[in-house]
Order: sequence, then structure tokens, then C-alpha cells
Amino acid sequence: MPQYLVRKIKIGKTSQLDDLARAAGELYSRTLISFWRTVRKKNIWLSGYSMEKWHISSKLHAHTCDAITQSFYASLKSWRSRKKLDPNSKPPKRRRWFYKVIWKQSAIKLKDGKLRLSNGKGNQPLIVNWHWEKPKQIEMGWNKQSQCYELRACYRQKKVMPKETGNISGCDLGEIHPMAFSDGVDTDIFNGRLLRSKRQYQNKLKAKLSKLIDTKKRGSKRRKQLIKSKQKQLAKINNQIKDIEHKLTSKAVSMLQKRGIQTLVIGDVRNIRKNINYGKKANQKLHQWSAGSIRQKLEYKCAKVGIKTELINEAYTSQTCPACGERHKPKNREYKCKCGFRHHRDGVGCYNIRKKYLGFVPVVGLMASPVGVRFHPHLQCNPID
Ligand SMILES: [Zn+2]
Repeated sequence: MPQYLVRKIKIGKTSQLDDLARAAGELYSRTLISFWRTVRKKNIWLSGYSMEKWHISSKLHAHTCDAITQSFYASLKSWRSRKKLDPNSKPPKRRRWFYKVIWKQSAIKLKDGKLRLSNGKGNQPLIVNWHWEKPKQIEMGWNKQSQCYELRACYRQKKVMPKETGNISGCDLGEIHPMAFSDGVDTDIFNGRLLRSKRQYQNKLKAKLSKLIDTKKRGSKRRKQLIKSKQKQLAKINNQIKDIEHKLTSKAVSMLQKRGIQTLVIGDVRNIRKNINYGKKANQKLHQWSAGSIRQKLEYKCAKVGIKTELINEAYTSQTCPACGERHKPKNREYKCKCGFRHHRDGVGCYNIRKKYLGFVPVVGLMASPVGVRFHPHLQCNPID
């Protein structure tokens, strides 16, 4: 599967952008209405191809019109496959006042640092300052958090061949330490204090503002203002969290490269959150901890440099003693076993994840004491050193 990269750029809100989004919404709704009408009256499901021929907007590029019809058919298709699992799922029937505008390659031109997005003959093109390469496809959508339009530029990523040789590293995604790596001998533990404090603040802020909003009358002007302000404040801290996660994962991947890692084995924690009650306090901690978003970033950044990633079930990996194989729960941050083995708790997790993947039991040699990777985003502007 080809990998895609998306670059997002906010472009504000102008009457031209409004008109484009409205034209797209009008075309989408028109397609939708005529599709369901023929289903109702004639019991015929019209094909996407005939729809594309019928429904055109004079305000948009011909290929943009095709893309909008195609996106209606895409949601139709996804509903039909969803229906098999969930008979109650609803088909796409909602009309749209505004809809995303898609420019395909034929409508995109780049010249002198300006991107020219054609809207068909006789219409003003959309012109945007552009400091990057020409994208494969561009989509314009509404950014709810910032209350403005954004461009999502799609690039097809050049395929990087996976490395043929190299070491294997285990990775444990944790809540106190966002990432810990072990290549069998060396352990690197990333410090997550900053990330954690931001997440705690985010939760507090969310609760505080929701409480304040609840005291205001429904539909009142003050309430609306507060809701808007809440979204804005949360968006800001969300961006800060994303930024830290990006810097952390970039640093981790460049470290893995330096260590000559070929395969990264990630302990899968997805089954953790479902159905199990860990108690009120632990639940809150688990909720705050977004292992998924860090895992995702690690996966695609590894792929970019040719490091293969594998997911394995991490059950018991944090409890099993690497030296004697007995299981017991560590009480604090240090893992102590009756056999005399002692190590950092998160170091044990990633060591065992690697071992589980390899599937054999090597004699435990020397496990070097862990190296803590401290992270100070304010001291570094470039995450890859
Ligand atoms: Zn032991």
C-alpha cells in the first residue's frame, strides 16, 4: 500500500472560500437527492459514472465535480459494508450546506511560490502562497477548532525499502514513560513528565470550562461565547501535546537509526481500555494516556526510514522476570524479583516484548542499566539531532 503524507495549512475564511465550499455542498446535496429519488421511485441504484455526467457545477473544476460525486459513492459503499456488521447503521442522507472541495492533479499548478487551484473556465482560481513541492491532490475543508478553512495537501511518499539486516528493538508504550526501548542490552527510557502535565492540565481545563458553561442558560449569547472559547483553549493545548509527541517520536526514531535497528516490535496496548475497570484513579490515568497516537507516529516515522514495525500482544510482558521467568506485579517503579533480579520497571517491559517476538529464551546476559532520555522542547528547535 502506498503511504501518503498530508500537509495541513490554515487559509482563513474569505467570501471566495465560502462560495467554493457552498458550491461543493450544493453539488453534493443535488447528487444525494437525485440518487435517493431514483431509488425510491424506480428502485434503481444509479452508478457513479452516470451521476458524474449528470451533475456538474459551473462554479467548480470538472474534476472537482467528479471527486465530489465519488466521495458520495464512497460513503455509500462504506455504509453498505458497515451494514453487514451493524444493521442499524444509517445511509448517507444528510444534505450539506458546505462540503469539502477537492482539486485533482489536473487542476493544480505551482509557479513562483504560488499554488494555483483552478475552478474551471470563467471562474477565479484559488491562489495560495506555497513554499513546498506540488502535491498530488488538495482538499479544502473546515477546521472546526480554529474556525477557518484549511488545505490538506496529499503527497505520495516515496517507497523506502525496509532494511535487510539490523537489530531488533522492543518498545513499551507507557503512561509514566511514554516510550521505552530495549535492543536486548541497552535500554532507553523517554521521560514524559512534560507530556503528562500537559494532559492533566487539558483535563482540568475541560472540566472547569464545561462546568462554567453548564451554569449559563441554554441558547444564551454568553453560553455560545463560552463554548467557542472552550474550543479555542482546548485546541491550543491539543496542538502543544501533538507537538511534543512529534518531537519525542522523531527523536526516538533517529535514536533507533543510530543504534542500527531493523525491526521495532511494539507492545500492543489496544486491548487495555476495553471493558476492564482498573479503579477510578487508574482509569483516569489510562484515559489521559494516548498510546495510540504515539504508536501511530512511531509507525509511520519508522516506515519513512526503512525500519519495519510489528505489533505484538504485550500481555504479562511487564510482569515476567527476564532472569527466571516468574510472574509478579512490580509494586513501584523498580522491578524486583525473588531471584535477585532488579531493573527499571519499564525496561523490563520492552525487554520482554522483544523477547516475546523473537520467540526463544536467550540466556539473560548483562542488561545495561537504563539511559533516561530527558526531553526539553524549549532547548531544542530541531527534534532530529
Ligand atoms: Zn526472577
